[in-house]
Amino acid sequence: MSNPRNIKQLLAEKKLAPHKKLGQNFLIHRATAEKIARMAGITEEDTVVELGVGFGALTQPMAETAAKVIGLEIDAGIVAWHEEQQDLPENVQLIHQDILQADFRKLAEQTGARVKIVANLPYSVSTPLLFKLIDHQDDIAWAVLMLQKEVSQRLTATINTKNYGILSVIFNSCAAIQTLMEVGPGQFHPRPKVDSQVVRIVFHPKPEKIAKLPDFNGDLLRKIVRSAFQQRRKTLVNALSAGLQQVNKDNILQALEKTAIPPKVRAENVSVEKYIALANALSKPLHSHYPLP
Ligand code: SAM
Repeated sequence: MSNPRNIKQLLAEKKLAPHKKLGQNFLIHRATAEKIARMAGITEEDTVVELGVGFGALTQPMAETAAKVIGLEIDAGIVAWHEEQQDLPENVQLIHQDILQADFRKLAEQTGARVKIVANLPYSVSTPLLFKLIDHQDDIAWAVLMLQKEVSQRLTATINTKNYGILSVIFNSCAAIQTLMEVGPGQFHPRPKVDSQVVRIVFHPKPEKIAKLPDFNGDLLRKIVRSAFQQRRKTLVNALSAGLQQVNKDNILQALEKTAIPPKVRAENVSVEKYIALANALSKPLHSHYPLP
């Protein structure tokens, strides 16, 4: 597709309705797509994995710089359309696949480097996809993602704010996150009801602030943070006691004391560093009850 603007026309001619369930809000302005591709900072040596190719609005400008683009797309109709049109450049490999099933380890092995991801993410799967990135962080260098503003604000939220939550703590415990640009509903067809933002998430190299922290068990951190925020109106000690049923309240109180976290604070008043310290302090009591395999 030479011009993303044509998408409206194409859908109308083919009497194709964008699938709402698949989060199909296609970029329609070439300049915006080019800007995102440019801001991703792709080099000539890079193989980039694109999640949700659609009609190739981002794929085309990325393929102009990258050595290769591996694009995943779940919609069989769109994959067939590209096959019929043969519109994608030669250095694009289109794969009919659900991004939630993507094997980032295999992609890293295949490309010989940690995976670099770019996506105008379907909003329908953005949260599970974000957690998948966390699970596969060792295989991912960075991801540049267009997200619903509400979600991206949670990734970048700081302590003591209403957006500070599970996503903020988990992502900031293992990555550097930066907002790159704001994108309004008029940039898409169909128009979404919400604003979007493009964020950069860098897992490797680790940000200095994170590299300096002691090693911690990521699964345990996640369990703690989920418990803390699931009942964010409760005091931290009560939220953790309710959520971490394997640990008794005394162990939780001891861990809070050890890490100098007042037991009566709320989840949003605890820094990422303190949550990591808490994960380390709780590691022993938890695993003596439930040894890790
Ligand atoms: N990249 C294109 C653009 O910027 O115009 C399309 C972006 S559109 C927001 C999201 C795309 O992801 C759609 O093409 C949709 O069919 C596809 N998609 C939705 N869910 C998917 C999934 N689970 N796996 C792979 N692709 C998916």
